Amino acid sequence: MLTLDFHPAGRHFLQIPGPSPVPDRILRAMSYPTIDHRGPEFGALGLQVLSGIKKIFKTQHPVVIYPASGTGAWEAALSNTLSPGDTVLMYETGHFATLWKKMAEKLDLKPEFLGLPGIEGWRRGVDAARIEARLRADTAHTIKAVCVVHNETSTGVTSNIAAVRQAIDAAGHPALLLVDTISGLASADYRHDEWGVDVTVSGSQKGLMLPPGISFNAISPKAIEASQTAKLPRSFWDWSEIVEMNKTGYWPYTPNTNLLYGLAESIEMILGEGLDNVFARHQRLAEACRRAVRAWGLEIQCADPTVYSPVLTGVMTPEGIDADAVRKTIYDRFDMSLGTGLGKLKGRMFRIGHLGDCNDLTLMATLSGCEMGLKIARVPLAASGVVAAMDYLGSNAAKPNLKAAA
Ligand SMILES: *Cc1c(COP(=O)(O)O)cnc(C)c1O
Repeated sequence: MLTLDFHPAGRHFLQIPGPSPVPDRILRAMSYPTIDHRGPEFGALGLQVLSGIKKIFKTQHPVVIYPASGTGAWEAALSNTLSPGDTVLMYETGHFATLWKKMAEKLDLKPEFLGLPGIEGWRRGVDAARIEARLRADTAHTIKAVCVVHNETSTGVTSNIAAVRQAIDAAGHPALLLVDTISGLASADYRHDEWGVDVTVSGSQKGLMLPPGISFNAISPKAIEASQTAKLPRSFWDWSEIVEMNKTGYWPYTPNTNLLYGLAESIEMILGEGLDNVFARHQRLAEACRRAVRAWGLEIQCADPTVYSPVLTGVMTPEGIDADAVRKTIYDRFDMSLGTGLGKLKGRMFRIGHLGDCNDLTLMATLSGCEMGLKIARVPLAASGVVAAMDYLGSNAAKPNLKAAA
């Protein structure tokens, strides 16, 4: 039975890398009455969110908003641009990249999966040189799209999307570039137009600080052109009618009205803080978190310091310690949720989310819960991670001046 009548004192600490905590401002905005989605007020709201979200993706081109989870927007990206039997080059960075590849198979595409064996590839970002080499060898241009995950939420590793674009260009290959930044958007620097991405996929429940339930496709003119000849069956996901109706702020079907109120508020909060300040805040919290993990003497899942994720940190537990048992102890004792190890990493690591509505003291409380839980689980710790993070946050002058940004 669902025990919604059980309310422990204080806030639950939802420190998984999405869904992330929804700020009160957004919850309040979402509590406004639901309005007629064909009425005059709705069109104004539609136009406001459709233009605002472009600033977050850094694009001048259309962004489609679906009433669906991120998985739906993955399917939309593939089905609008590709045809049955098309070869797509995908890259194994972790669990989410693997799920997207499985979806491509189900949709009758032929994914080729680049990557390293075992969990080695789950500790590093995309190697653009390998993509370039594969594309150079494809002289017949049978590869129709390159698909990569920008922020691999299962591991805490990012990938250099600009380098992937350069690799495609250096090979002189016409493949489309499709990128999943479901957990990267509005937390890690992202530039849809400048990086020459054709379709960017994102979702509401990570950096945008909204509940789950809406997702996005940012689409380039080249992607729109591809959609005109792409043959994969699609109806709900079809861009053409949505983009046409969005010009006046409406949708062909009922959009997620109250989540769009939340989105309007989220965009205002993010742009109000300033995107660069938002990114710097995430980098700073991530650095503090990594210092804590190192002080504990535990290993960070990401093996390449140049691609540490600003969104989450994957923490490996020592041999013989079940990471899920540690998570359960922390949940039971301190009312805090941490991310589980996914796929190949089940039981071997836990994930600390430090994204969205998170500040210095949120992170300090999170790390305190982790440290207490690790001790209860008898994980030998070298030193206090809490003290290491406090030393960094308490003395680091790089904290952005929030007043100046407002
Ligand atoms: C969360 C996430 C997804 C899945 O999104 P859903 O909203 O659960 O469908 C896909 N890719 C990445 C990188 C994610 O973080």
